[in-house]
Amino acid sequence: MRFLAIHAHPDDIEFLCAGTLALLKQDGHEIVLATVTNGDKGSLEYSLEETARIRKTEGRRAAEVLDAAYHCLDFGDYEVFEGDAQRRRVTEFLREVDPDVILTASPQDYHPDHEASSRLVREAAFIAGAKNYQTGAAPATGKVCPLYYMDPAEGTNLFGEPVQPDFIVDVSSCMEIKKEMLARHESQRAWLKAHHGMDCYIDEMEKWSRRRGETFGLKYGEGFRRHRGHGFPQDPVLEKALPGDLVKILRED
Ligand SMILES: [Zn+2]
Repeated sequence: MRFLAIHAHPDDIEFLCAGTLALLKQDGHEIVLATVTNGDKGSLEYSLEETARIRKTEGRRAAEVLDAAYHCLDFGDYEVFEGDAQRRRVTEFLREVDPDVILTASPQDYHPDHEASSRLVREAAFIAGAKNYQTGAAPATGKVCPLYYMDPAEGTNLFGEPVQPDFIVDVSSCMEIKKEMLARHESQRAWLKAHHGMDCYIDEMEKWSRRRGETFGLKYGEGFRRHRGHGFPQDPVLEKALPGDLVKILRED
């Protein structure tokens, strides 16, 4: 199967679901990574264009760890909005990749780009099959693709309230891969170091993964929710694609 992970910024996927993607890769599945923005505001040092170029290169290098393709939809940071052109752009992209399963940003999150990306991807997944909705050269998929949400950043919504996952994936065996992928976003590590005054990039990710895991009796974990809205397939494809002993179900169907 082909799994598409699409989130707002270069490095979000690495924080929130790289371990799960590594497990899927080990089981022979194809992985595609994508970011809605090019990360162009994530620097105090470089111009917009230069920052975008650096961050897309880092996104590609991180994807290479999983032998995965990386795509960028080239929205600017803080410029992800819903609108006709944006919805068509994301739908065209989903048609081009034509995944079997999509993993995307949580609909509740502190960051406006995360929430807007989540909504655009959900809408596009629903529409991609509709033949008369025209977007570009890619043909309509003729289906609604199963959709999953990653955890929101720090597991909370914009009010700081916890968002409960449907299931947790035990990614303890893949933490080195996850760290390696995140480490390839070198400019962000430097930016956060300058911004926060300490080198906490990899540590923060590890701390977060441990917290997600420990709550549910695992060393390191990543949480997901299935989109259960009308029209979306409800077969638990992601849960079933992963080794059964590594999936801890918290919400039964
Ligand atoms: Zn982000």
